[in-house]
Amino acid sequence: MIKFALRCSEGHVFESWFQSGTAFEGLQSRGLLTCPVCGDSAIEKALMTPVVAKPTQPASENKREKSPELPEELQRLRAEIEANSDYVGERFTSEARAMYLGEVPDRPIHGEARPEDAKALIAEGVPVLPLPFIPTRKTN
Ligand SMILES: [Zn+2]
Repeated sequence: MIKFALRCSEGHVFESWFQSGTAFEGLQSRGLLTCPVCGDSAIEKALMTPVVAKPTQPASENKREKSPELPEELQRLRAEIEANSDYVGERFTSEARAMYLGEVPDRPIHGEARPEDAKALIAEGVPVLPLPFIPTRKTN
């Protein structure tokens, strides 16, 4: 004998004994199983709550090293910016201005600027966007 937790299409969960798993499937396929609550014959094995022996890490935790202080969407934004633009560090102000003035070819950059420099760039019409995070510093 084997006991299965079953669920009808209305979501009622109940347990029932069967001679075997095959016997259960035979009864199920012929619509001979009915819900004791509502009489529904659309019966499936209920998914049991998994029993976990030790804590497991969520899969997403392993994908990338994260800074715990950053919400996930900012981490994504940072990853995107870092993947698609050059890090120029503290040269950001001069690089951005040179690009704006056409002295160097346009390219996406990110880096750091003092608040007064950033304000000056914006005042000059240079399209800069403050980032809501500190870029990852690179040594090269
Ligand atoms: Zn039911």
